[in-house]
Amino acid sequence: MSSIPATIHPTAEVSQKAQIGFGTRIWNFAQVREGAVIGQNCIIGKDVYVDFDVHIGDNVKIQNGALIYHGVTLEDGIFVGPQACFTNDRNPRAITAEGQLKGNDDWEVGPILVKYGASVGACSVILPNVIIGRFALVGAGAVVTKNVPDHGLVVGNPAHLVGYVCHCGRKMVQQGKIWHCEYSNWNFEPN
Ligand SMILES: [Zn+2]
Repeated sequence: MSSIPATIHPTAEVSQKAQIGFGTRIWNFAQVREGAVIGQNCIIGKDVYVDFDVHIGDNVKIQNGALIYHGVTLEDGIFVGPQACFTNDRNPRAITAEGQLKGNDDWEVGPILVKYGASVGACSVILPNVIIGRFALVGAGAVVTKNVPDHGLVVGNPAHLVGYVCHCGRKMVQQGKIWHCEYSNWNFEPN
């Protein structure tokens, strides 16, 4: 538990209706909107956008320029690389079939959940209705269209599973049903 109040750079725009936990630092030109909840000891980098009602846990690091749209929940200990983008509309259209500009009621939010300890690589894109498992790793530039299992390593567009990673972030070696990290001397058996 931290007892230091949040540190917010004067150029950041943080809504009075957002909740920011102790020890969290918010850098230059970040925007945090109404109803957003950010836990303790987080780092919200330069130019990050945190949309309304987004939930972010404790000890989360969000690198510069990441876009976290409405519908996203990040549990504790998540890493978000620079310019990663969490989307929320599976069927994006600016206009209706009749050519009218769509309003807030003309679309459905697709949620995204990122579970404890996971990492989302630089410039990756996460599509709506996706769950990223505990300690999973999304490679840089990946386009994630479906769920990622716990400790799963996904790369590419569309992102596909290429192995499993340890808590330490290193890729594990397959030994039959078990995946092993030599560095941590830790075994993992995928579901
Ligand atoms: Zn390890």
